[in-house]
Amino acid sequence: MDTGVFRAWITAVAAVIEANRDHLTQLDAAIGDADHGINLARGFTAVLAAINEPPSGTGAATPGAVLTLTGATLISKVGGASGPLYGTAFRRAGKALGTAPEVGLPELEEALTAALAGVQQLGAAREGDKTMVDALAPATRAFSKAIAEGASQAGALAALASAAAEGATATIQLQARKGRASYLGPRSVGHEDPGAASTALILAALRDTASGDTGAGGTGSGDKATENPSARDAGA
Ligand code: ADP
Ligand code: MG
Repeated sequence: MDTGVFRAWITAVAAVIEANRDHLTQLDAAIGDADHGINLARGFTAVLAAINEPPSGTGAATPGAVLTLTGATLISKVGGASGPLYGTAFRRAGKALGTAPEVGLPELEEALTAALAGVQQLGAAREGDKTMVDALAPATRAFSKAIAEGASQAGALAALASAAAEGATATIQLQARKGRASYLGPRSVGHEDPGAASTALILAALRDTASGDTGAGGTGSGDKATENPSARDAGA
């Protein structure tokens, strides 16, 4: 996966967040303060501008740089809990990728692990607390498992995205113990956590963007292809 894939992923995230802005805000209206979709849409609009027109000297010329710039922009543009948390996640992921021009599954696994660690370090949420961690943690675990079992890039990314979606849905039955929703106590039960829902959207966009790529061990690693509709489906 080269820089083009990461730029395409972040571009797709901006689109899917915009398309789901009202939905995410409605989820937050039920157990928070009705701003999650608005927060993220504003943040990713700024991210798009930043990666397409990076300030001189910063650039977004490697996968790591794309993610680091995404994180830094979210931190500076998004208030509330989710800005610093997603900002940290993307920055940690970017740092983990370093300056490599292309990354494969093991590097992406490291980046996701670093992102999760950053979110948990900052927000101190554990699985079961009804936060974005309930999507990100099982997704990262499923991704690692798929890689260990020799899955293709498409297969590992499919496992990542489905585990995130399942984790987000499973937050419905949980009582919030972190963030604004925790103020509601037992009344937070019965509603999907907005941050877990947005995490599932972000990781689904990664699957959709990168799973057509042949990836580690595949052919065409020297290509500059970003989205290659003719790329062979590596199979799941
Ligand atoms: P705010 O709660 O400040 O209004 P948002 O509405 O943008 O911020 O984001 C709310 C989401 O942030 C929650 O749905 C939850 O997933 C996530 N969140 C809140 N607190 C934490 C935390 N301590 N750790 C992880 N995620 C958290
Ligand atoms: Mg909110």
